[in-house]
Amino acid sequence: MTTFRVGSASDVGQVRSNNQDSKLVSDGVGVYAVADGMGGHQGGEVASAIAIETLEAIITDPTTPSVVEAVKEANRRIFSRAADSTELRGMGTTLVAIALVNQGTDEEEVAWVNVGDSRAYLLRDQELHQLSRDHSLVEDLRRGGQLSDEEAAVHPQRNILTRALGIDHDVEVDTGAVVPLQGDRFLLCSDGLFNEVDRATLIAVLSEGDDPDAIATELVRLANAGGGRDNITCVVADVVDDGGRAERAAAAVTIAGETGTVPEDGDPAPTREMPAVAADEEATEVADAPTSAAPPSTDPGLGPPPPPPPPPPAAEGVPPAEDAPPAEGSFPAPPDPGFPDGEDDDDGPIDADLPFGRSTTDLYEDLDHAGGRHKVVTALVALIVLAAIAGAAYLGLSWYADRTVFLGTDGDEVVVYRGTPGGFLVFDPSVEERTDLTLEDLEDEVADDVQAEREFDSVDDALSRVNSGRVRDEPEEEPTTTTTEADSSTTGSEKPSSGPTTTTAP
Ligand code: MN
Repeated sequence: MTTFRVGSASDVGQVRSNNQDSKLVSDGVGVYAVADGMGGHQGGEVASAIAIETLEAIITDPTTPSVVEAVKEANRRIFSRAADSTELRGMGTTLVAIALVNQGTDEEEVAWVNVGDSRAYLLRDQELHQLSRDHSLVEDLRRGGQLSDEEAAVHPQRNILTRALGIDHDVEVDTGAVVPLQGDRFLLCSDGLFNEVDRATLIAVLSEGDDPDAIATELVRLANAGGGRDNITCVVADVVDDGGRAERAAAAVTIAGETGTVPEDGDPAPTREMPAVAADEEATEVADAPTSAAPPSTDPGLGPPPPPPPPPPAAEGVPPAEDAPPAEGSFPAPPDPGFPDGEDDDDGPIDADLPFGRSTTDLYEDLDHAGGRHKVVTALVALIVLAAIAGAAYLGLSWYADRTVFLGTDGDEVVVYRGTPGGFLVFDPSVEERTDLTLEDLEDEVADDVQAEREFDSVDDALSRVNSGRVRDEPEEEPTTTTTEADSSTTGSEKPSSGPTTTTAP
């Protein structure tokens, strides 16, 4: 019988005015979650709260399918709530959760589910493994090789999600499972943590102490110390009893050798992204070939340097969806993540008792049991996933592009744009509201905001900013101005805002 000891902490951070993160610590059921909401007004708070409330209400006897279904139900509830309300339109949330699931007698596992860029980590034997994969544009670029780990960690656009709850009526949910061992420490967190606290610090803090509440509190403190630019939420779940499984697994790992090791450096990817893996593989093979074929230099240091290998082909070459998934044997060298990837399930040495014995593909195992359908199912899944990735990417990007409003000028007129300043990818900003004002009608501070294309959470916020800085239209509302009232009144009456005569370069 697996027993957890769980602690948690959440904080608004140093910059934001409200905390849009939510968390779930449900010891009775054995479900733990973090949700990071987003969307103007109260949308983010509402979305993350609905996600957490739905998990809490629906999951009574967790199984992997039931947890996945609860996440999908949460998605539907957020989506329909957003559709019903102009105030909440566009709200969304991430959701990452773990649950103790029973696979039969004495076959307990910790299943994880993820949508978005909150994370599930596992610290085991002083090593930190990221179980979940971020659904973000930057993570896609990193996995495609266009960004290094270091570049991705500080990329200014790393908050662009490719998947979130509440954006569409259906959502794809990543899932996997690990067999919990005594001493395991799971961490669920929002991006407010790992954007402020580097990996080494994370490992150091997680490796010390036996009070999960204190650990969670310390992590939040460090994130605040690092800048606290976002809401910060941590749930720390320690496996304090595993019914003796650790000892049995240790024996099994010794026998099985390498295959029982946990994945390296947070790359236990769900195996659904066949296209991306195949693209990586091609790039690796082409890039490697000339190097190995080059004649060995017999004159080191004197001869001309060997020609550099040609650049790898563009990674856009997604293989046709009709293709069967790449054969297991054709994968390049990367370390065996220990996650069976479907083709491996039946003949691989992976033992369910080993730490990382299961993966996403287990969701489809029931179908496989009908016999001989694995490839068909997998190919179908790959096809669906391809479409889902494309669709989710577009929705996510357009959602991102339109999630903010900003001030700017259209000709001379100050207007509120919806979109991203300068446009984002193919999404150009559009004029949302006109003001009939020019920069000349505004106090310098507000005019600066307009010229800087300052962003706001809502049109109302942007308009009230403009209205707060009107110098010529409503002199009676300028009690704090340093000029005299007489001056203001005179100026105001001389020059109504409806007749701007000056021109100002935007
Ligand atoms: Mn966040």
